[in-house]
Amino acid sequence: MDSIKVRSSQREELIEITSEVSRRLPDNGDGICVLFTQHTTCGLTINENADPEVKHDILLFLKNTIPQYYEGFKHFEHNSDAHIKSSLMGSSITVPFAQGKLLLGRWQGIYLCEFDGARERTVLMTVR
Ligand code: ZN
Repeated sequence: MDSIKVRSSQREELIEITSEVSRRLPDNGDGICVLFTQHTTCGLTINENADPEVKHDILLFLKNTIPQYYEGFKHFEHNSDAHIKSSLMGSSITVPFAQGKLLLGRWQGIYLCEFDGARERTVLMTVR
């Protein structure tokens, strides 16, 4: 088991961790890589890493669709929006790898999705 520390600097942010994951893969190994977060207000996803505006648009859409303050929310921390976004993105992803390289598509990157920063997050990583 390996772990990756990720530091966010804003409340909501998509932080690419593809290179941190790649560098922890076994040399020339084949298998699957599982990434998992134990947090309830961030998530993991795979999406485009070519045009940075994609990250912007994903965050804008989520923010507009799921406002932080919504009539009827009861959770005392006032971060129910972050909990909902975390569940939508998911807390784990699985990526196959071959010869020590992630089998991501040409335009794909792995992102930690911060929804309640700024803070430090941990992503657990296991390979089989
Ligand atoms: Zn909360």
